[in-house]
Amino acid sequence: MEKQDLLFEGASKRLYSTGRPSIIVLEFTDEFPGSAASSKKGKFPGKGEINCGISSFLFQYLENYHVPTHFSERITPTEMTVRKLEMFKIIVHVHNIATANLAARFKLDDGRALDYPIIEYYLKAPRLGNPMVNETHALALGLAKKEDLRTISRIASKTNAILKSLFDRRGLVLLEFQLEIGSAGDHICIADEITPDNCRIWDRKTNRRLDQDRIHQDLGGVEKAYRELHDRLISAA
Ligand code: ADP
Repeated sequence: MEKQDLLFEGASKRLYSTGRPSIIVLEFTDEFPGSAASSKKGKFPGKGEINCGISSFLFQYLENYHVPTHFSERITPTEMTVRKLEMFKIIVHVHNIATANLAARFKLDDGRALDYPIIEYYLKAPRLGNPMVNETHALALGLAKKEDLRTISRIASKTNAILKSLFDRRGLVLLEFQLEIGSAGDHICIADEITPDNCRIWDRKTNRRLDQDRIHQDLGGVEKAYRELHDRLISAA
């Protein structure tokens, strides 16, 4: 399917229309999202291809377990066709292990296991710093209906269970991840991407970070880590 007009350009992704109104093309660029990361020269050749590969693989994997996603087909190394959705203005965060912002907020040791997964909702409003919202905020602000929130929470929990065990079988730990969710009519599904840009993933034996934190924490070896994650997930498939 041919891509047509550019609909949206972010740092790490571009969206294009196609000849079919219900389908768009999602292109992954070599940049890192967010100005903070980009200002640290967050870019390497081949990142778009790696992230498109990881996201395509994970979306198909989830679909095999009947978790609905927007994924249709990977059409080039850096592009996939996806279902065009009305996006909820909510970002869902799922935490299995305290790290990064969650560890800082509750003064928990980095890497401390949680007794139960935590699911948090954030308003997608970068100008407000994406504040955390709960179910009553979401209802009061018209961000989602009650039954939509129930579906979103079920999708997040199921995604977590499936991905956690997949990563575990690859000798990896899924500490936390973010999801964007959208709908086409009554059909609610995962949108955007699932990549090391919006997940935190460590090697189980060494706790080596194979994700965005190599940029945020200036750890170096970003490209190597992203390639390793891609290969460990996909070559073993
Ligand atoms: P970047 O990471 O490049 O800064 P963003 O993630 O901010 O880009 O932007 C990508 C945009 O595309 C987001 O606004 C996201 O909600 C939107 N998007 C992702 N998937 C879909 C979809 N299937 N339909 C409509 N919009 C989508």
